[in-house]
Amino acid sequence: MFAIPGLLLGIWAQIKLSHAYGKYSKVAVESGMTGAQAARRILDDAGLNDMPVEEVPGHLSDHYDPTKRALFLSSENFSGRTVAAVGVAAHESGHALQHQAAYGLFNFRMQLAPVTQFASMAYMGIFFAAFIFHQFFHQFIEIAIVIFGIMTLFHLVTLPVEYDASRRAKEQLFRLGLVREDERKGISKVLDAAALTYVAALVSSLMQLLYLLTLARDSRR
Ligand SMILES: [Zn+2]
Repeated sequence: MFAIPGLLLGIWAQIKLSHAYGKYSKVAVESGMTGAQAARRILDDAGLNDMPVEEVPGHLSDHYDPTKRALFLSSENFSGRTVAAVGVAAHESGHALQHQAAYGLFNFRMQLAPVTQFASMAYMGIFFAAFIFHQFFHQFIEIAIVIFGIMTLFHLVTLPVEYDASRRAKEQLFRLGLVREDERKGISKVLDAAALTYVAALVSSLMQLLYLLTLARDSRR
C-alpha cells in the first residue's frame, strides 16, 4: 500500500517524459544548433572554456560529472538539433553553472551522494540479514530507518537542485539568443517532465520511510 503512490507517480512521470521528449526531439531549433554546441556556448559564456562536452552512449544518459568537471551528453542530445536536445544540454550546463557558483544545495547534494550510495548498498545487506537473523529484526528496522532517512534527504535536496538547473538553462538560452520564445515553452515541457521523475523518486523513498516507521512502531507493541 505504501509503495503504490510512488509507483503510480513514477509511471506517470515516465509516460509524461517519454511523451514530451518524443515530441520535442522531432522539433528542430531555428538556430540549427546541436545540443553540444548550445552547451559549449553556455559554458564558454560563463568562462568555463576548458570544460569538456563529451558524447556518452545510452538514452537520456546525459549528466554533469562534478568530480571530472565535465559534461556528458547522450548521442541523441549531443548531435540533435532539436528543442529537446538543446533543452537537455542546457540543463546539464546549468549544473556546471551551479558548481561554478558554489550553489549551496548543489554542494550539499554532491557531499551527500557517496553517503547515499553507501546507504543504498548497505540496505541490500540489511534486507537479507533481516531474513536470516529474525531475532534482530527490530535493530534491522532501526538501521533501515536511518538508511531511508538519508535517501529521502538526498531526494529532497535533489529537487531544488534540478529545478534551479532548468531555470539557469532557460535563462542562459534566452539571454544568449539561442532559442525563441515558443521554443522555450517546449524546453520547459521536457525539463518539467524530467523533474517529475525526481518528485516520484522522493515520494517513493518517503513512503518507504513511513512504512518502516509504522513497522517499527508495530513491532514495539
Ligand atoms: Zn539535472
